[in-house]
Amino acid sequence: MRSIFLLEELKLFQANELVTFINRLVDLITKNMLHSIEAEKSLEAKEIRPTAMRILIYKLLNKSNKALALSDLENAFSNSERTTLFRTLKTFEEKGVVHQIQDGSGILKYALCEPNCNCEFDRDLHLHFHCTICEDTVCLTDHKIPHINLPEGYKAEDANLVIKGICKKCNTV
Ligand SMILES: [Zn+2]
Ligand SMILES: [Zn+2]
Ligand SMILES: [Zn+2]
Repeated sequence: MRSIFLLEELKLFQANELVTFINRLVDLITKNMLHSIEAEKSLEAKEIRPTAMRILIYKLLNKSNKALALSDLENAFSNSERTTLFRTLKTFEEKGVVHQIQDGSGILKYALCEPNCNCEFDRDLHLHFHCTICEDTVCLTDHKIPHINLPEGYKAEDANLVIKGICKKCNTV
């Protein structure tokens, strides 16, 4: 009697586990689909045809909490051609989906722009932070590049203000 009871209990337990597992899976798939739809919409808003590859790259940039270099994309999409990845980044940059960051490491990095960014000098450009230990570079979007009065006749077109130091992650180790 006891063993049958145990068996029943086990079945019930497994059924519950299975339901939890399926729920988690559905949740994951739904989230992934939502992120894809979000990516598609964001690309279309910037007049970029949302191809499968572009959606994947957008999602990676969106998920990442640091600016990414071409080599990061190469690592993430090892089956893709380097030129395809590079061209996608260039398209994104031209259309204002990403902005380029020169953090002094000699490696160009890219990060997603804010939704209504036009990459305009006096309005949209923000500071960046580069960690000298882990080499990560992040956007400080709350800190816009301050207005600078240039000498007469000079016109600003672009700026790269990078603060160097130790990031929170490296500081707490
Ligand atoms: Zn921008
Ligand atoms: Zn760091
Ligand atoms: Zn940035």
